[in-house]
Amino acid sequence: MGLPSVKEFVRPGTLDEALELLRERGERAWPIGGGIDLVLFAPREVETVVDLGRLPLRYVRENEGRISIGAIATLREVLESPVVRDYLGGVIPEMLHQVASPLLRNLATIGGTLVSANPWSDVITLFLALGADVVLSDGKTRTIPLEKLYPARALRATILTEVRLPSSARESAAAFWKFSRTAFDVALLNCATFVRMVGGRCVEARVVAGGTPQLGARLPRAEACLVGSGLDDSSIERAAEAARESADVREDRRASADYRRELVLVGVKRSLHEARGRLAGGER
Ligand SMILES: Cc1cc2nc3c(=O)[nH]c(=O)nc-3n(C[C@H](O)[C@H](O)[C@H](O)COP(=O)(O)OP(=O)(O)OC[C@H]3O[C@@H](n4cnc5c(N)ncnc54)[C@H](O)[C@@H]3O)c2cc1C
Repeated sequence: MGLPSVKEFVRPGTLDEALELLRERGERAWPIGGGIDLVLFAPREVETVVDLGRLPLRYVRENEGRISIGAIATLREVLESPVVRDYLGGVIPEMLHQVASPLLRNLATIGGTLVSANPWSDVITLFLALGADVVLSDGKTRTIPLEKLYPARALRATILTEVRLPSSARESAAAFWKFSRTAFDVALLNCATFVRMVGGRCVEARVVAGGTPQLGARLPRAEACLVGSGLDDSSIERAAEAARESADVREDRRASADYRRELVLVGVKRSLHEARGRLAGGER
């Protein structure tokens, strides 16, 4: 598909320049990271493509256990970064290996992936479970929880500059689980869990299911089954049951609602067992 309305392709070198262009051109401008969604979703009136690729936002950094990822870092750059390798048992590269294909990961950026809010997004499901924040700039800078970014398909005259992941406390673990028809296909359903333990008791839990087929969302009833528990088999079982009952699953051309409900149960259970294994120092 062509983009006949596009008359201008600009590559600003600074954030101020990029924001100025977006403000000036309004609805007729479309910022891109990797640009993958441009052809799929860009409205017909787009005349100016603002490529964010020259902005100094291509990095993956660690500071006192906290991780900051610049919006322009590609999924491949994040996947291969030594900074994320050991974060919570390597759950980030584990998830990124399952996103699309190597060719798409070479192009897709973290910023574009979070803003595009594709409902099957594996990145969003895991980052919600990890408690990520995002930094936005429209001239002024503000930091908000990733959860608060949605529902938004596109940010007008605002650029997502960075995603921040909290420091991984010693007794915490996370895991990700994806169900798809083939290795390169988008998720029929994905799940991610995060737990933080103190003295053998769970004090913080996040359970997320995505591709339901809606965008990833937390499941508070499942989380409540974990907080206060010792993460034993019965609390995992209860949490998985609560996830199955409370997840807003629906039918689409990929799967029925009933099938997805079972996937929520299995995905949450497997993911919690994996997280518990990580806490114990093993894989499962
Ligand atoms: C064939 C195919 C298979 C896929 N498989 C998977 C999969 O298995 N798992 C998965 O999770 N995803 C999958 N995806 C989704 C894919 O990961 C996203 O399309 C991609 O991540 C978008 O990244 P991008 O950098 O190209 O975004 P872009 O297309 O550049 O941008 C997407 C949106 O975000 C806006 N934007 C971009 N950067 C910024 C910024 N910094 N600030 C503000 N707004 C911004 C754009 O204006 C646009 O609205 C698949 C996509 C395709 C086409």
